[in-house]
Amino acid sequence: MNDQPIFNRLALIGFGLIGGSIARAARAQGAVRSIVATARSAATRKRVAELGVVDQVVESNAAAAEGADLVIVCIPVGACGPVAQEIGPHLIKGATVSDVGSVKGSVMRDMAPHLPSHVHFVPAHPVAGTEYSGPDSGFAELFVNRWCILTPPPDADKEAVERLATFWRKLGANVESMPADHHDLVLGITSHLPHLIAYTIVGTADELSEVTRSEVLKFSAGGFRDFTRIAASDPTMWRDVFLANKDAVLEMLGRFNEDLSALTRAMRSGDGQTLFDHFARTRAIRRGIVEIGQDSPAPDFGRAHPTLPAKPLPRPYAADNE
Ligand code: NAP
Repeated sequence: MNDQPIFNRLALIGFGLIGGSIARAARAQGAVRSIVATARSAATRKRVAELGVVDQVVESNAAAAEGADLVIVCIPVGACGPVAQEIGPHLIKGATVSDVGSVKGSVMRDMAPHLPSHVHFVPAHPVAGTEYSGPDSGFAELFVNRWCILTPPPDADKEAVERLATFWRKLGANVESMPADHHDLVLGITSHLPHLIAYTIVGTADELSEVTRSEVLKFSAGGFRDFTRIAASDPTMWRDVFLANKDAVLEMLGRFNEDLSALTRAMRSGDGQTLFDHFARTRAIRRGIVEIGQDSPAPDFGRAHPTLPAKPLPRPYAADNE
């Protein structure tokens, strides 16, 4: 593999989980010669400088864009349009401009009109994340064996698309390209709807009476806690995702409601076969995800379990020769 840096100067606009992970991975892999970063608040910029994972921290988006041959906008999708307007006049000829937004159609519509014709606009979405945010939350391994979806416009320069794909592969990701509207439909079911359901179920539990609520937390290992991880995701990011991908999520929500009604009917009428068949099908999906390496086969998501209390085993189980 060619070990040369793929880009000369990477500008990261926004430095949270995703921007911070790109910086750490790009540096670890030598994917770029230098990294300049900025963020909206002075507090985040100060923290990024302290972390020492980029070469330079600047005060404005325009200053970050100047001289960069790769600019990646790593901020909530609702803020991408105004940022494109701000950096447009400062982009150098031949630069690649990309983003990491979880919705692609709206980002393309909002950013493209502000970008000069002498740059390559190649939107991207690394399908990788955690429930943490902010400059300290990033880590270099976040993208390893995860997919990064590129949604280049139909007239995009093929070489520029391939160069960005090479960059993401160097960070450990697998890369696939698809049209933006297809991306939004697929992610509507695989990511956005599950988040909406998690936000709903955790909110419903929270509205139960005080006594019951404490039991919800106490007995959460029964399944509830796995929803709480998703429902702990950043509120600004997810507000923007649901507003920006409204049509696709509403479409998926309609189908979900129909399926929920069918299961409710089966339960009410005591139709165990329908319930069993449905659960058998969904169990196979989980196995499929493990088989293609998108999750660990370890039980319970690989959570560590505490050791048994240090107490001698009662006879006859204890070894005789102790
Ligand atoms: P994050 O950790 O919350 O960081 C967001 C960054 O954006 C911060 O540097 C913040 O600056 C800046 N920012 C927030 N609002 C802004 C605005 N109005 N104008 C300019 N900058 C603004 O977020 P993240 O998880 O890295 O997510 C960033 C993007 O990645 C989002 O578009 C999201 O859809 C996408 N994404 C997220 C995940 C995930 O799991 N988290 C996965 C894939 C893609 P301050 O710190 O100064 O406020």
